[in-house]
Amino acid sequence: MISIQGKGVSTGVAVGPLYFYRRAKSEITRAAVADTEAEWARFKAAQEKAIAELNALAEKARAEAGDEAAMLFETHAMMVEDMDYEEAIEAGIKESSLNAEAAVSDAGEMQAAAFAAMDDDYFKARAADVKDISTRLIGILSGAVAGGIDSDVPVVLASDDLAPSETVQLDKSKILGFVTSGGSGSSHTAILARTMGIPAIIGVGDKLKTEYEGREVAIDGGTGTVAVEPDEAVRAQMLAKRAELLKRQALLNELKGKPNETKDGQRIRVYCNIGSPEDVHTVLENDGGGIGLFRSEFLYLECDDYPTEDYQFEAYKKVLSDMGDKEVVIRTLDIGADKQIDYFNLPKEENPALGNRALRICLNRPEIFKTQLRALYRASAYGHLCIMFPMVTSVWEVREAKKLCEVVKKELTAEGIPYSEDVQIGIMIETPAAAVISDRLAKEVDFFSCGTNDLTQYTLACDRQNNDLGRFFNPHHPAVIRLLKMVCDNAHKNGVWVGICGELGADLELTETFLSIGIDELSVSPRSVLPLRQKIRETDVRAVREKCIADLLSDEYRL
Ligand code: PEP
Ligand code: MG
Repeated sequence: MISIQGKGVSTGVAVGPLYFYRRAKSEITRAAVADTEAEWARFKAAQEKAIAELNALAEKARAEAGDEAAMLFETHAMMVEDMDYEEAIEAGIKESSLNAEAAVSDAGEMQAAAFAAMDDDYFKARAADVKDISTRLIGILSGAVAGGIDSDVPVVLASDDLAPSETVQLDKSKILGFVTSGGSGSSHTAILARTMGIPAIIGVGDKLKTEYEGREVAIDGGTGTVAVEPDEAVRAQMLAKRAELLKRQALLNELKGKPNETKDGQRIRVYCNIGSPEDVHTVLENDGGGIGLFRSEFLYLECDDYPTEDYQFEAYKKVLSDMGDKEVVIRTLDIGADKQIDYFNLPKEENPALGNRALRICLNRPEIFKTQLRALYRASAYGHLCIMFPMVTSVWEVREAKKLCEVVKKELTAEGIPYSEDVQIGIMIETPAAAVISDRLAKEVDFFSCGTNDLTQYTLACDRQNNDLGRFFNPHHPAVIRLLKMVCDNAHKNGVWVGICGELGADLELTETFLSIGIDELSVSPRSVLPLRQKIRETDVRAVREKCIADLLSDEYRL
């Protein structure tokens, strides 16, 4: 048995075979081949596999988002077999003795350049499609796997780190747990693991070796322990812990249907954070009272091109109608920093966390923002929608965003498309600037939701992605907690409700503090709803409020 210690970032125990994530190589190998017929056969097999993959993606898109979404993949499937494209590849292999990867790459470049030079906008846009199908073919040829996993049985997935775009595209039914050599507890990959309820361990360094692939591992996402080929005692101990966790879950299940009410009758709303329409069932399963944060950018991360208005509309409509009359807060696009999307073609930045991201991109590229807002307002007719803008620092940003909402509403009215008049508009408080001017911002919106992941990062000047910063990244820092109190006071003075949707919302050590300062809503990963409800129901706010508030304002608070 080999024991490895990392940092547990999503609780739970998993036992299964270890599998290393197959990432597509960004550089292709060029080589001369002797047996060109065999190379051609290798290409034909890859072509067949690409078509099968694209047809499967088209079916999935049709089921989840309708015909229009499926069309992109159907078009790609046809393009893989395009005669000119195929002939160029054949010439590369058979006449120039190129390896298939190089022949596909050259043919793709050539066709993309030809499309890009055309006058017609429709054909110009096909350049990106040709590049896309070439990348897929090269990926298949070089052994990369769509979705990163090619296994018939569920696995414990290992990787150096996983980008959010890679995590969202994983086939979740195949994953028992995550182990990464890098990563950080506040990264979006860790957040996604918690949302999916999958045990995860980060920061194991170089101790997890690729030669362990296929061996049985047992991981404990609570303690951060990884055991490769666990001995009988450790295996039994892990399985007993898993049974214990299931028992605890069964006990918590008794809290379903009960109110989030303290002993002295104070109520707080407990909502959920989700990343995709598919997460809604875990919200309902865990009795979440609503959705306090739908990270809409994950829809964009799953796509190879800008998601259309209809594609987004179907996704938002599904979440809203599945949630019935429960509140659903959908955050507008929050990309940038660790959430990078190639097709946005954003210039490389020295400090992306402080750069062109989230609402800044939306205000600079209103055509993208308007597409999302139109989809959101159209979907508002199907449920109880609240729209939330991320990364706000100034009042003018909120006013400009709200103006675009008005433009969109006017357009829909003119087009006779129904939407709800009761959509609440809110903002995230995740920059110190927004917290400090929350008195002014409160006059512009219906609600605030505090993003404590970024609020901690920006207040403490501490990169949330950097696991080495360890204890310096401290969301319990008095500066963060005092800002939360200030935001809460400013919100309530102005009749605005306030929630917390950062990971801190689920931190039971602070539940009494949040109740004492009067937070109205906590939005947490679905699995955290019932433990939080239990904590709330055990609390008597009258007994702790005065001390909690005096403590957090005192000179001694968490020095
Ligand atoms: C936050 O910053 O706290 C937040 C909820 O948003 P994200 O983690 O997606 O940046
Ligand atoms: Mg944030």
